[in-house]
Amino acid sequence: MKTVLITGGAGFVGSHLAETLLERGYQVEILDDLSTGSIENIAHLQGRRGFRYTLDSVMNRSLLLELVDRADVIFHLAAAVGVRLIVEEPVRTIETNIRATELVLELAARKRKPTLLASTSEVYGKLDEPLFGEEDNLVMGPTSRARWCYAASKIIDEFLARAYFKEKKLPTVIVRLFNTIGPRQTGQYGMVVPRFVCQALSGEPLTVYGDGTQRRSFTWVTDVVNAMIELVEHPKAFGEVFNLGHTRDISIYELALLVKELTASSSEIILVPYDRAYEEGFEDMPRRLPNISKVKNLIGYRPTLDLPEMLQRIIAYYKEKLSGHEIAKSKEHKSAGSEQLAVGRTIRQQRALSKAQKNRRQLAASSGQNFKQQRAEGRKGRR
Ligand code: UDP
Repeated sequence: MKTVLITGGAGFVGSHLAETLLERGYQVEILDDLSTGSIENIAHLQGRRGFRYTLDSVMNRSLLLELVDRADVIFHLAAAVGVRLIVEEPVRTIETNIRATELVLELAARKRKPTLLASTSEVYGKLDEPLFGEEDNLVMGPTSRARWCYAASKIIDEFLARAYFKEKKLPTVIVRLFNTIGPRQTGQYGMVVPRFVCQALSGEPLTVYGDGTQRRSFTWVTDVVNAMIELVEHPKAFGEVFNLGHTRDISIYELALLVKELTASSSEIILVPYDRAYEEGFEDMPRRLPNISKVKNLIGYRPTLDLPEMLQRIIAYYKEKLSGHEIAKSKEHKSAGSEQLAVGRTIRQQRALSKAQKNRRQLAASSGQNFKQQRAEGRKGRR
């Protein structure tokens, strides 16, 4: 039975990957420092046969060496993610993304362990093409705009993975993810779908940034993790980079309307200028749609769900998670306006508050406390 190491395995994509791998009979080992991941994401996997996790940093060299040695395959997902986090904490973004990848590749190369690197559609930057292909130019904005440090750091990661393949014969495969969505994704770091769904369910205004004409294509997380597994098992994928996304896009304003309709919410939709949502001079991409022929030709990948179906499933997930009580509670915060979530607390402030919370949650998880109780505890901590 194969053992797989997932760095960042307690994150949104990582936790789905772990779940799918366990279902397919792999042994799964997770390394995560819970900086943007959450113990709740993997709570349902605890106790499953073949599942182990370690809460520590990927930068812990001796630990990483041990885990890499034990693994047959490595999925390197640990990274700073989310546009809000990136804009607010560029040092952390650059350092986490580059140093962690350097270390994973260096250690994996010792015994040539096949390694998949999760990259991002952000690397295409301001490319103005109807479809983004893997061989297209990557068009960055100036270094005065913090947003681009994420793309730049991921481009370095991609170069490193390719360099290790070429020079050290390490079997690496790179995937560029296009707005992956699904249950367990948090809106805390800016991702639009969980934010709109939670806003709609709690009766708060849906915060559309800019004029809402920017377009995105959203991809179901299970499609993405299935493709990742097939790619890392496919010898022809090594040394290559693949787009993983959906072929249909939607404007963000239309997305807000669709979420409102599917949740039957009476929330209003408001436009928030980018300067207020992120920072002055923030640059957004008008559209971003992948050409997926390469991955389709190699492994037969194709998106399985359309957007309304994906949203229905996410809404069902959040409805269950945000019980009536929780929604009512979040309404209490409404007086602070939609900015509570949109442009209120910085991530640094959230983190300071949530550190204590996380410790409490870990304790709660191990003592079998349910999620509702944990959230109630968390809210107490935030007051
Ligand atoms: N966005 C929005 N309201 C929000 C969060 C995001 O209008 O509350 C917009 C964001 O400006 C971008 C799109 O939704 O144009 C997708 O944002 P996300 O952060 O999910 O992913 P990105 O494509 O920017 O990496």
